Amino acid sequence: MNKLLVGLAAVLAATFAPLTAHAALKVVTTTQDLAAITQDIGGANVEVSYIARGDLDPHFVDAKPSYMVKLASANLVECVGMDLEVGWLPSLITGARNPRIQPGTPGYLDVSVGIKAIEVPSGTIDRSRGDLHAAGNPHYWLDPENGRGMARTIQARLAQLDPAHAADYQKNLAAFETRLAAKQAEWTAKMAPLRGTAVVGYHSTFDYFIARYGLNLVGFVEPKPGIPPTPSHTLELAGKAKAAGVRFVFIEPFHSANDALPIANAAGAKVLPLPSSVGAEADIATYFDLFDHLVRALTGK
Ligand SMILES: [Zn+2]
Repeated sequence: MNKLLVGLAAVLAATFAPLTAHAALKVVTTTQDLAAITQDIGGANVEVSYIARGDLDPHFVDAKPSYMVKLASANLVECVGMDLEVGWLPSLITGARNPRIQPGTPGYLDVSVGIKAIEVPSGTIDRSRGDLHAAGNPHYWLDPENGRGMARTIQARLAQLDPAHAADYQKNLAAFETRLAAKQAEWTAKMAPLRGTAVVGYHSTFDYFIARYGLNLVGFVEPKPGIPPTPSHTLELAGKAKAAGVRFVFIEPFHSANDALPIANAAGAKVLPLPSSVGAEADIATYFDLFDHLVRALTGK
């Protein structure tokens, strides 16, 4: 009898021990930037996947059934917020039928909590005219100082959902912040000579980055966020760009250089393709890689 019990206990231990060891928190993020930071904070205690690839426009994502399958088993969904995913995330969450990740529950995390939005519109918003930034500019992850706030928000929620590993998350956050502080000093030093450099954006993606490093933002190829360029707007902006001595016209991997060329040509500027997210290029695997790449593209260092 005792022998049988011991044998049974051994079988049970073998069955349940690996399960416990691998009971990682399943996190699904909307973007690769959130996935990268979450991986840094979560370490081996989380299993992270993302929905939107970093080389594609995060405003527009096809609501594929495979994304709903991914969300169906998630413990936590993280989004950028400020309406970035408003066109596609709600339908994915509805389709996933997972009560754990509904907005308002601990399994839903809007990472913009605590981030101060820029370019918050005043007056009436008309979404039918394609205004993508009705809640302000949602591309806040492109200021590395906001990365600190994002990491803290993510750490707090991981600790809440998985208190057994709270000390790990705290330790990983401390390491993230130490590394970020050192990298920020490096990026600031490298970018310092570019202070006041006149630039044009395509979409208002890099506004937080531009503000952080004191570049002079002259205008956008898009007449309004999400509205394709028009000949009259391009002509007007080309004149402004020339007058301001614009040096770079920033475009993202999914923008057409042809739309930016007339403006760059008028000003004698360079059309500069820039990654706007982790994953946009093969060598951008972490949040730190993203700024290393941006700073190198602008300064050559
Ligand atoms: Zn946008």
